[in-house]
Amino acid sequence: MALFTVTLPGGEIWTPQFVNSIDADKCIACGRCFKVCAQAVLRLIGIDEDGETVELDDDDDDDDEYEKKVMTVGHAERCSGCQACAMICPKKCYSLSAAEV
Ligand code: SF4
Ligand code: SF4
Repeated sequence: MALFTVTLPGGEIWTPQFVNSIDADKCIACGRCFKVCAQAVLRLIGIDEDGETVELDDDDDDDDEYEKKVMTVGHAERCSGCQACAMICPKKCYSLSAAEV
């Protein structure tokens, strides 16, 4: 099966690498990946002591009951495969792969 590729304006063939997952055990919630993602794919969530997901409030009053924050893939369908998130992540949390067509 062939991989999904893009022909760039200069004629070069480029193979996008799409985000699969983010390693919650390694993530330190630094937010670097969130800032560089131009497609609004990523979402910061809380994890409670039972490992359950906690939605974070938009305000900064710190009353959410979570053990730690982690970055997650909120909208994988928006990913352009640019790989900026994985390049900037200091903890090597990202798993990406090319798409088959
Ligand atoms: S590969 Fe690019 S578009 Fe996809 S999540 Fe990472 S930064 Fe966003
Ligand atoms: S850059 Fe890496 S460590 Fe920082 S929030 Fe994103 S996934 Fe987590």
